[in-house]
Amino acid sequence: MKITDFRIEKVTAELKKPFVTNIRRVEKIEDVLLTLITDNGATGYGEAPPTVAITGEDIESIERTIKERIFPAINGLELGGDDVFEALHTSVTKSTSAKACVDMAIYDILAKSVNKPLYEYLGGKAKTLRTNLTISLGDNETMLKDAVEAYDDGFGILKVKVGADEKATVEVMRNIRAALPSAVLRVDANQAWDAKTALNIIEKIALLGIELIEQPTKAEDLAGLAEITAHSSIPILADESVFGYEDAVRILDEKAAHYINIKLMKTGGIYEAMRIAKLAKERGAKVMMGSMLESVVSISAAVHFAMSDENICFYDLDGPLLAKPSAVKNALIFEKDEISLAECVGLGITF
Ligand SMILES: [Mg+2]
Repeated sequence: MKITDFRIEKVTAELKKPFVTNIRRVEKIEDVLLTLITDNGATGYGEAPPTVAITGEDIESIERTIKERIFPAINGLELGGDDVFEALHTSVTKSTSAKACVDMAIYDILAKSVNKPLYEYLGGKAKTLRTNLTISLGDNETMLKDAVEAYDDGFGILKVKVGADEKATVEVMRNIRAALPSAVLRVDANQAWDAKTALNIIEKIALLGIELIEQPTKAEDLAGLAEITAHSSIPILADESVFGYEDAVRILDEKAAHYINIKLMKTGGIYEAMRIAKLAKERGAKVMMGSMLESVVSISAAVHFAMSDENICFYDLDGPLLAKPSAVKNALIFEKDEISLAECVGLGITF
């Protein structure tokens, strides 16, 4: 079975409210939707969101990279071994969302060809994942209101987006904890702090029972990250600092984080994500299955992948929950914060 053709469309999903972090603001999801086609007529689907602030890719560059670089490199290659993934990864530098989009479509085809759901093809088994819900960065009053509303709606794990303001961060976390004594709270600074600020904040929120703090420093500031990790009483999760396998090796070698956040849009898809997950497991580092602001096709890929390894035990897969229902038929079942999959083959996407 060989890849012989492809189609690119756009898929859009309206957000229920704007998504705001330390580095960006998004009003609606508009992603690239890819259909890969093989010589025997099989199809696989992929999706990539434009996340310029993180991967440097917009809709146009994702489309262009797939058309001009990735597809020519994998066109006509036999599916089933490592060759197609090696060709994909060496076809162009960076461009990790474009690569992820193609990678998941190939895995969709491979799993469909043996009539299995993708998680089973990857050696995993079905389970229910509990995702966190993101609380966008805003004024403290709004964030508290959003957190309480989310908790009351059945979301017991909240990922709170915070910014550079030390005082506001400490205050909002104290307020949320006071209002929601039983919620699981995660903090995502999205690179807003330096080591000194981070350690000041951590000292002040140390007794609030925060589960983890995500990416306190700039992505490239591994020394700062390592200093925080050495002194923090709250586990540190590396996100923007880890794209591919080599980044994960460096983070773990330098003890720059306790945990690693794998996102298919950073790794360039499942093939590379599996290498990182295996490494993290060997080194005793727990993994979060994260996502960008994505819709149902790529979230399906992330859910299948998350089911493939027990060491992947934190889930940040709330994109579809933040958006109005998608027109794309899929196997995802959301019951408040629980995600499971209906019986399906491949990714479970149908048109
Ligand atoms: Mg993050």
